[in-house]
Amino acid sequence: MTALANGVAGLIAAQGPLGELTARIDDQSPLGPVESWTPALVSTVRLILSAKAEIVLFWGPDLCALYNEAYAPTIGDKHPVALGRPARENWAELWHDLEPLLLSVIQNGETVHAKDRPFYIERDGGRGEEVFFDISYSPVFEGDGSIGGALCIVNETTRRVRAEREMLAERTRLWTLARDPFLVADMNGVWLSASPAWTDILGWSEEELIGRTSKWMEHPDDAAHTQGEIEALKNGAPTLRFENRFRAKSGEYRTFSWTAVPDNDLIYCVARDVTEQRAHAKALADAEAALRQAQKMETLGQLTGGVAHDFNNLLQVVTGNLELLQRGLKDNERLRRVADNAMAGAERAAMLTQRLLAFSRRQPLTPERVDPNRLVSHMSDLLSRTLGERVEVETIQTARAWPVEIDINQMENALLNLAVNARDAMPDGGKLTIEVANTHIDDHYAAQEDDVAPGQYVLISMSDTGEGMDADTLSHAIEPFFTTKDVGRGTGLGLSMVYGFIKQSGGHIRVYSEVGHGTSVKIYLPRYHGPVVANDRDAPGEAPRQPPGGNHETVLVCEDDEKVRAYAVEVLTELGYRVVEASNGAAALDALEQAAPPVDLLFTDVVLPGGMTGADVAREASVRRPDLKILFATGYARNAIFHHGRLDPGVELLTKPFTYAELAGKVRDVLDRQVARQAG
Ligand code: ADP
Ligand code: MG
Repeated sequence: MTALANGVAGLIAAQGPLGELTARIDDQSPLGPVESWTPALVSTVRLILSAKAEIVLFWGPDLCALYNEAYAPTIGDKHPVALGRPARENWAELWHDLEPLLLSVIQNGETVHAKDRPFYIERDGGRGEEVFFDISYSPVFEGDGSIGGALCIVNETTRRVRAEREMLAERTRLWTLARDPFLVADMNGVWLSASPAWTDILGWSEEELIGRTSKWMEHPDDAAHTQGEIEALKNGAPTLRFENRFRAKSGEYRTFSWTAVPDNDLIYCVARDVTEQRAHAKALADAEAALRQAQKMETLGQLTGGVAHDFNNLLQVVTGNLELLQRGLKDNERLRRVADNAMAGAERAAMLTQRLLAFSRRQPLTPERVDPNRLVSHMSDLLSRTLGERVEVETIQTARAWPVEIDINQMENALLNLAVNARDAMPDGGKLTIEVANTHIDDHYAAQEDDVAPGQYVLISMSDTGEGMDADTLSHAIEPFFTTKDVGRGTGLGLSMVYGFIKQSGGHIRVYSEVGHGTSVKIYLPRYHGPVVANDRDAPGEAPRQPPGGNHETVLVCEDDEKVRAYAVEVLTELGYRVVEASNGAAALDALEQAAPPVDLLFTDVVLPGGMTGADVAREASVRRPDLKILFATGYARNAIFHHGRLDPGVELLTKPFTYAELAGKVRDVLDRQVARQAG
C-alpha cells in the first residue's frame, strides 16, 4: 500500500496538528505508524482535529483512542498516556458500560446517542468530580463498505446539568415550605422528583414514589383519564383542574386536583389534596337531596291532608244519609240492595281517605304501651291465615324486647299493609320474616337521616323473598299514589300510610330492596320508658245489634258543616236524645246558657270557623259547666287537642266519617262513663 502510505504522508505534511498528534502516539500503539493508517482513519482524524466540538475517536477492533486537544482535560492525568492506546486500558472503570455500546456501533453499524451521560473523572490533579456528556457514536466506513471504527462526538454538558440540578434543588427547597404537593415527571409520567408533601399526605417514602409512574397507587377507575392527560401534556397542552385518586399507604384513597405544564421534556405539576372538600360536597349534596325529599313529603302531606279533610266531611254526609236510607228501606229488598252497594262504595272511599290522613300524619292516634313481641306474634297468626299457603311466615322475637307506645290498631294495619305488599311481590310464594330486635340509633346514623333522633329503638322488620324494587321504584315507593300495580289492584297508599303513621308515632322507617332478592322494611319505634300495662285486648266482639239509645239527655251539637250537623242531629234525635244545635263556637256557648233542660253533652267539631276551635269552646263550656261531658268529632287534628297526634287523657274523640252505630255507642259511652266516674 505504498500509494496509500504516500497519500497519508502527504496529508500529514499538509496538516500540522495531525503531525503533532501522531508524534505523541507512542511506539507501542496498536495503530502503528501514521503511514500505515487507512484513508478512512486519516480523514476521520482530520475531522477530529479541525472540529470545534470536543471529539474523541475510538478506532478499530482494539478501540484505540484518538482525541483532540479540547478533549485532553476531560481525562486529566491520563493524557497523553491514553492517546493511541486501547480504550479498555484507560477507561477501565467505564468499560462495562462502554463496551457493548461501542461494539454495537462497530459490529452492527448503529448510531448511538447518549444524553447527559454521567462520568466520574479525576482532573486538575486528582480532584474527582461528576461530569456529564452528550455523546453520539457513529460508524466510520472504509472504501469497501466495512466498518473501520467509531467516530465519537462529545459535548460536555456538565455546566447545564449542574444548573438544572441547582434549579431543581432550589425548587425542592421551596417545596419543603409549600403545603401543596409538587412533582416533576418525564413525558411518560415517571416521577423524577417529588416534594415532601407527598410523603406527608400519602405516607409513601420518596424512594417508593420516585423513578416510576403513579399507576401502581392510582384508583383503577382514574387510570385511563390520567393517561389521556399525559398524552395531552406531551402535545404541549397544560392540564387544569384534572382530578384523580391515589391510594395512601393506609389504604384509603385521597383525591387530588392537578395543574400541570409541560416544559422541555418534563412535566411540572402542582396537586391539591381535595379529599375533604369532595367529601363535604358529597355530604352536602346528599343532605340536600334528603331535604328535598323531606320537603316533597311534607308538601304532599299538606296537600293530601287538606283534600282528605274535605273528603271526610263529604263522606260523612254520604254515609250518614245512606245509613238513614238503609234503615228506611228495610222493607224494600231491591232498593235496600242498591243502598247497600252505595254504602260499600262510600266505605271504601272512607278507607282511602283514612290512609291519606295517615300519610299526612293527621290521623287521631290512641297510643298504648305494648310488648312488641306480643304485637308481632298476634300478627303472625293473622298473616299465616290471610296470606295463603304459598307464603311461609316466620316470626323472630327477641327476649326482653323493650316496650313501645303505639296505636295498636294502626300498627296492625301497617304490618298488614306491608305483608300484602310482600305477598304481591311473591306471586309464586316465598318467605315472609318478621323480626323484633332492640336497637340503638347512634348519632352517626341519626345525622345521615332526616328527622331521626338518636336513642333506643325497637326494630320491627318485615322481609320478603320477592321480586324486589329497582332504585327508581324504591325512590318513589313511599309517595302517595305511587304504584306499579294494575289499576284496581294498587292504590299506592300502603307504604305512604305506614310512613306517615310511623313518623307521627315518633318512629322511623327504612326500606331496603334488591331486585330479584327481596325487600325489607324496617320500622324503628322509640323505646317506651315505663311499665308495660298488660295488653290483653279482647278480640273485637260482634257489634251489638241495636245501638244504645238515649234517655232524653240533651246533646249540644256544634258543627259548621250544615249537612254533617243535620245528619248528627237526625241520628241523635232518632236515638232518643234531645238535641240543640250551633254552627260555631260563640253560638254554642249561647245555646249552652239558654238550653232548658240543661245540656248534658257537648258534641263539637274540632275545626270551627270564627276564631274559636272546638277545644276553645270545650274549655270555656267546662268553666261554665264543670259537670258537662264533652265529645269531639274530627277528620283530622291539628294541635288543638292533640299533642303530636296523641289524645290528652280524658278527651273523647269520634273520627269522621262516623257511622250511626259509632255515634250512638260513643255518645252513650261518654255519658255513662263520666256518670260512673262521678259516682265512684
Ligand atoms: P300499592 O301496594 O297499592 O302499589 P304501596 O304504597 O303499598 O302501594 O307500594 C307502592 C309500590 O312500592 C308498589 O306498587 C310496589 O311497586 C312497591 N313495593 C312496595 N312493597 C314492595 C315489596 N315488598 N316488594 C316489592 N315492591 C314493593
Ligand atoms: Mg300496598
